[in-house]
Amino acid sequence: MRSNLIAGEWVNGTAVPNINPSDTSDVIGEFASGTAQDATDAIAAARAAFDTWQFSAPLERHAILSKTAAELMARRDELGELLAREEGKTRAEATAEVGRAAQIFDFFAGEALRLTGEVGASTRPGVEVAVTREPVGVVGLITPWNFPIAIPAWKIAPALAHGNTVVFKPASLVPASAHALVDILHRAGAPAGTVNLVMGPGRSVGQSLIEGDLDAISFTGSTGTGALIAAESAKRMRRCQLEMGGKNPMVVLDDADLDMAVRVCLDGAYFSTGQRCTASSRLIVTEGIHDRFVAALGEAIAGLNVGHALHEGTQIGPVVDQGQLDSNLAYVAQGEAEGAMRQIGGEVLNRDTAGFFQRPALFTGCTNDMTIAREEIFGPVAAVIRVRDYDEALHVANDTPFGLTSGICTRNLKHASDFRRKSQAGMVTVNLPTAGVDFHTPFGGRKGSSFGPREQGAYAREFYSSIKTAYINAG
Ligand code: NDP
Repeated sequence: MRSNLIAGEWVNGTAVPNINPSDTSDVIGEFASGTAQDATDAIAAARAAFDTWQFSAPLERHAILSKTAAELMARRDELGELLAREEGKTRAEATAEVGRAAQIFDFFAGEALRLTGEVGASTRPGVEVAVTREPVGVVGLITPWNFPIAIPAWKIAPALAHGNTVVFKPASLVPASAHALVDILHRAGAPAGTVNLVMGPGRSVGQSLIEGDLDAISFTGSTGTGALIAAESAKRMRRCQLEMGGKNPMVVLDDADLDMAVRVCLDGAYFSTGQRCTASSRLIVTEGIHDRFVAALGEAIAGLNVGHALHEGTQIGPVVDQGQLDSNLAYVAQGEAEGAMRQIGGEVLNRDTAGFFQRPALFTGCTNDMTIAREEIFGPVAAVIRVRDYDEALHVANDTPFGLTSGICTRNLKHASDFRRKSQAGMVTVNLPTAGVDFHTPFGGRKGSSFGPREQGAYAREFYSSIKTAYINAG
């Protein structure tokens, strides 16, 4: 059994099997499911470690993060295979995700050496003002299953770079990637208690964390759990950072390059089996290109190879588990019941192995008030909404409770820059998929998608550090 890491010791728990969604007969291994008490113990360990770690030398932090980056990069094929086995994204997608995790650790290894402040003059003569950043303390990190190594990386790396200690609870569906990452950090020299891993259910381990003695909590997952964490954090006057769902629009205008628009939408809507918070699941298409676009996208979907994540040539892996597949199928049925036309896909596919395979679905004739255009499905399902012109497209794009990403395909610079300004999303793309963002730039959204400071890049410091203003009378 692979164990939890608390105070530098591997601690056993109830053994839970980890099942491959491409082949349910493949058990990846058994992982320790911890308890609410384990979460409390981990917080205590992180608090004890914080006494020393907060004053650790930048070079020590740099060395640990950089060693972690190097091992992730060196083992990206092996860890990519593990990730693909447990989450179901294709080998290529999974290997790229491990590479990205390595780049994130590398970036934050550098950040550990770039921790600077400001010195200024006071309004009072002879007084100097210094503004510095200090660690926040013990940070709880709760992550979802869809990016099992990249999301933990973009929370753990900045937390450590800025001198915080961590209690990390991964999603129950993907313990293997989380365990591998923490094992690397442990061997890279992270002192006992600086990084603690507690695998186990959200309702016990997760709940214990959010009710525990944490100084900050960073969460990525569903809006429902995010709201719970926000409420608990408000009660405790504790800072929190939430990255939640999306219902991201991709606008396709009459003047778009058709082939490019199809590629952008195919990738944005369906790659990683549509299980990305940045997926473009609303395709808002102006009437002059609508029919050609739908025909070309339908053809491209028909040609997609859906199958076992590790098989050669697979472009779309399985849905993550039976529960998610059932949910996707219910949305497909609801789309039809509400009058949308199922152009292609949505059905379960049988393959050589027992997995959760579903053909990507494209709905046309959708209106923006239909359930499939409003709720995040988190599966390979996209809704095409036909609009008159750019102005209507912009209005529909912004008419959503979410605001994570948005995109536009056009050759018209005026519309591209107007959309960039007026889109109510945290991230905007032009002639590029809404998913697949850089690792060194700020990540986050608006409205119901995000709460708190941005993640990733140098902006991560806004969450993982606290500002101190000092007044010094040198006279
Ligand atoms: P959940 O909110 O169900 O789970 C996310 C994490 O929270 C898991 O580790 C889960 O544990 C834990 N959790 C569940 N209940 C509680 C609780 N009561 N207290 C504390 N922790 C809890 O989301 P999913 O894992 O299903 O992830 C899919 C969602 O994540 C989608 O809605 C997607 O949009 C969103 N997401 C957002 C991203 C963004 O950056 N905006 C990126 C990726 C995903 P357990 O696994 O044990 O249930």
